[in-house]
Amino acid sequence: MKEVGHDVWILESTRGSYAYWMASADGNILIDTSLPGRASAIQRELETHQATVAHILITHYDVDHIGNLAALAQWSQAQVWLPAGDVPYIVGERPRPGVKRYIARVMKAEVPRSYAMLHAGDAVGPLTAIASPGHTPGHLAFRGPGMLFVGDALAVRRGRPLPPARWLNWRHGLARQSADALLSGFVEGWLLPAHGEPLYWQRKGGQGDD
Ligand SMILES: [Zn+2]
Repeated sequence: MKEVGHDVWILESTRGSYAYWMASADGNILIDTSLPGRASAIQRELETHQATVAHILITHYDVDHIGNLAALAQWSQAQVWLPAGDVPYIVGERPRPGVKRYIARVMKAEVPRSYAMLHAGDAVGPLTAIASPGHTPGHLAFRGPGMLFVGDALAVRRGRPLPPARWLNWRHGLARQSADALLSGFVEGWLLPAHGEPLYWQRKGGQGDD
């Protein structure tokens, strides 16, 4: 684990699709769970740092975010929070749209035994869910003090936050709108993506134009 910002750590065992751990007085939080097959590596990394988990927050339904959710939920006994709009896809009531239907058949992710639903505006400890649809129908980002967990609403490429490639998005136009809205609503702090490295973000002309 590597400290990124105040109380936030990146899990090195999740390279390729980063998950983050955050210390919180209301119970420590894991944000996303990375690619299938990494549960024991993630557990080891957390245990090494005595990093307990009370809440697991999921940004969206893609298998590289929920890949170890069931195993890590069982290990930690944490409360699982799923983005309400993506729940039908996560639990298998609806097939994921587009190519992801096929990806989900090959890369399977187990469904956790119990979970609660998160809607935009809901808070878990210091984090508040922000609607950021487009990559998936129910994608949520999570905003905390000086930090923004963007899931796949933004990826960092060559030091720049950008929306994901068109073919990865459920609705590309909406994904671009959500990406712009997240960036214009975030004045300064750590932008924490799954893909690409964390970026210290300072909005241009940040002062006085709120
Ligand atoms: Zn994704």
